[in-house]
Amino acid sequence: MEIVVCIKQVPDTAKIEVDETTGTLKREGAEVKMNPFDLSAIETALQIREATGGTVWVISMGPQQAAQVLREAFMMGADRGVLLCDPRFAGADTLATSYTLALGIRKAVRNPQLIICGKQTTDGDTGQVGPEIAEFLQIPHVCNVSRLVEAREHALVLMIDLQEMLQKVQVECPCLITVEKDIFPPRLPSFRKREEARHKLIDVLGCSDLETDDPGCFGLQGSPTHVEKMFPPVVDKPREIWTGTGVDLAERLVERLQRMKLWLPRDH
Ligand SMILES: Cc1cc2nc3c(=O)[nH]c(=O)nc-3n(C[C@H](O)[C@H](O)[C@H](O)COP(=O)(O)OP(=O)(O)OC[C@H]3O[C@@H](n4cnc5c(N)ncnc54)[C@H](O)[C@@H]3O)c2cc1C
Repeated sequence: MEIVVCIKQVPDTAKIEVDETTGTLKREGAEVKMNPFDLSAIETALQIREATGGTVWVISMGPQQAAQVLREAFMMGADRGVLLCDPRFAGADTLATSYTLALGIRKAVRNPQLIICGKQTTDGDTGQVGPEIAEFLQIPHVCNVSRLVEAREHALVLMIDLQEMLQKVQVECPCLITVEKDIFPPRLPSFRKREEARHKLIDVLGCSDLETDDPGCFGLQGSPTHVEKMFPPVVDKPREIWTGTGVDLAERLVERLQRMKLWLPRDH
């Protein structure tokens, strides 16, 4: 089975800042890492490869430095890597990102049977890219997969987390799935795989390598979304710290809840 994992390099969110003039994330010089959900997507692909055989491809759209996350995927055991890198891809919203990824997958892998994405990223966090790739490739998709029940050669049995309930589904390949972070704990790279990763080649594709009738669909030009403003949320709720004995605190809490009309005595 040809399995493709989409991986994104994201800023280390604890350290990212917003440029107050432009309202955009300050990405330059920010420390970066692989999107944590994508580590689980790679592990899922490796588990399926171990069950059915085949090849695990990893693909990322990003600047040259995104090659680093592809190398990390090689260290875990991925076989082939593709970097979609071109200044014309810059400024892409989720639609342009997924269009570019769909074309890149079609060009590099030809006959993908399974595409795996993370459920979401820790920066953009929309969770839109996976389903949009599936729509562009006209294949079914299953989101929020929390457990792989069975991997067969032409179908998967999956558990999906709908928050209020779990649902068991079967999906025929080719298909796309997006996975929860805890579907599988990602494996650590072995020494041998680290060495091998250094010598593996990454295929780099730009705009002119992708087959499309509409070159205006890439990057900022192909992005119908316009971000008006980006800002950290303002915490405007006053906070109080109460001290005292347990009884004092309980009485005070009841009195406050009654005042807020959130507490009714039992006989009401
Ligand atoms: C108008 C506009 C302009 C923007 N300009 C820029 C910009 O200049 N630079 C910039 O970095 N971002 C830019 N962004 C953000 C960019 O759109 C998102 O980073 C990108 O579309 C992915 O969306 P997301 O992070 O919400 O991914 P999600 O949909 O949350 O990701 C889900 C999964 O999709 C896959 N995936 C997502 N993105 C990629 C990727 N690039 N490569 C491989 N797999 C991927 C991963 O498996 C991931 O786990 C812009 C957004 C808008 C709206």
